[in-house]
Amino acid sequence: MSCARRTLHNLRALHNRRAVGSGSTAALLRMSQAAVVAQSGRRAISFKSLFAPSPPGGAAAGLAGAKQQLLVKADDLFHPLSKSPIKEMRQKGVLIQEHGCCPTCVQETSSKGQQAATREPAFECPDCGYPTHCSEAHWKADTRHKSEECVYLREANEDEHDLRSGRTLREFEFPSAQLSEVVVNFSSWDTFLYTRSFTNVESDRAMRHVSKVLTYPITIGATLHQYSPFTLGSGLTGEGLKSMTALRTTIKEHELARSEKELEMQQMPLRIFVLGARAEAMLPPHLYLQLSYLLPSSSMTVYFVGPECLPTADETRSTIAVSSRLALKYHKGYFHDVIWNFAPFDPFTDIFFLFSPGLGHAKGRAGWQATVAKLLETKCPIFATGFHQEDMDSDVAALTEDFGDEMDWLLKPRVNPFGSLKRDFGIRNLGEWAIANWGIYGIRGKRYEVQRK
Ligand SMILES: [Zn+2]
Ligand SMILES: [Zn+2]
Repeated sequence: MSCARRTLHNLRALHNRRAVGSGSTAALLRMSQAAVVAQSGRRAISFKSLFAPSPPGGAAAGLAGAKQQLLVKADDLFHPLSKSPIKEMRQKGVLIQEHGCCPTCVQETSSKGQQAATREPAFECPDCGYPTHCSEAHWKADTRHKSEECVYLREANEDEHDLRSGRTLREFEFPSAQLSEVVVNFSSWDTFLYTRSFTNVESDRAMRHVSKVLTYPITIGATLHQYSPFTLGSGLTGEGLKSMTALRTTIKEHELARSEKELEMQQMPLRIFVLGARAEAMLPPHLYLQLSYLLPSSSMTVYFVGPECLPTADETRSTIAVSSRLALKYHKGYFHDVIWNFAPFDPFTDIFFLFSPGLGHAKGRAGWQATVAKLLETKCPIFATGFHQEDMDSDVAALTEDFGDEMDWLLKPRVNPFGSLKRDFGIRNLGEWAIANWGIYGIRGKRYEVQRK
C-alpha cells in the first residue's frame, strides 16, 4: 500500500490512541478515574497530572521531588526531535524514522510509474525538527513541505514540548458552574472561553491545548444550547430547527422543573449517544462536566458506543457517575448490534454524535451502513464531524449515495467553530494531518407526514 493511500486510516488510528497528547490511553483512563473519585461537582479541575513529564530518576524520584523540574523553558520550546531533552519526543522521532516515508522518494518513484519506494526519513528538517526526508537533497527538493507543512509541524513541535515541559499547566484548571446571570457566547472559542471564565487560557498555545480536549464536550453543548451558533441562515435547515426545538423544549422543561420537586421526578434525562467512540471516550470523565455546566438544569447520560470505546478486552460495559446530573456509560460493540439496550428512542430527549467517523472511508463504509440505517429509523437528530474538508466531503458523498432518499438535512456541512485548534500528524506520513471535529453536519431520518385529501 502506498503512503498516501494508507494514511487517513492510520491517522484515525492515531487519533484513537492519542487522546490528550500524552500517555497511553490505559494510563490516561486510570488517572481520570482516580480524578473522578476525588472530584466534587463544584471544584476547579486540574489536568496537571495528565501532562506531567516522566521524572528523570523514575517514579520514585518523581514522588520525592515535590518541586517540579522544568525540562524546557517557555522561550526555548523548539528542539529537533533527536536532540530533545524530553525522552518521549526523542522516542517519537525514532518512531517516525522507523515507520515514516520520504515524500520525495515516493514522488520520484511513482512519477516513473513504479511502485512507490522510499528510504527511511533520517534527515531532520532544521525548521520544524521532524525527521521528514531521507536526505538533505530530498528535503531541499520538496517545496510542498516548506510551503504547506513545515510551519504547522514547527507549531506541533513547540506545543508538544510545552505540554511536557514540566511547567504548571494552569490552562487546564477549568471553571466550574456558570453564574446564572452570565450568558455563554458560542460564536467562537474566544468568546466561549471568555464568557465561561476560563481565566487561565492566556495564549494561543494554551488555547490550542485546551481546544483539543474540549472540542468533544463543547461541540455537543454548542449544538444543543439555545444560543447555538448553528441557526437558520447559518446552516441549520427548517427540519433542523424542528429537531433542535424538540430537544430544547425538553431542556426548558428541565429548567422549569427545578423549582418543583414533583415535576423534577417526572423528567426524562437527555441521552447523548456518541457512536464509534474512540479518543472522546478516553478523555477524563470529569471533562464532560463542561458540557453539563452548559445545561445546568438537565440530567444527562452520555453513551459511548463502539468497538474501541473501552480500553481493556474483558470489559463490555461500565458506568461512571460524574455528578448528580451527569453519567457516562460505555458500551463496547457496534451500535446496530447493541441497539436494544437503548430502545425506544425519543426525538425530544435523544441525540447522536459521530465524531470523525469516516463514513466514506473504504474500510469503514460497509460497517457504518448498518448503523446509519438504524439511526435514521430513530428519527432523532444525528450530527457528524470530519477531520478536514476532504474527509467531510467524502463522508457526505457516501451518505448521500447510500441514504440520500431516506434522510433530511438538519445542518448543512460547515466549519465547526469548536473544532480543535491543533493539527495532528500521521507518524507514517507527516504530509497527512487531521483536525478533530474541523467540520460538522447534521441529518435525520425522513419523516413522512400524513397527507390529507
Ligand atoms: Zn528521499
Ligand atoms: Zn520542516
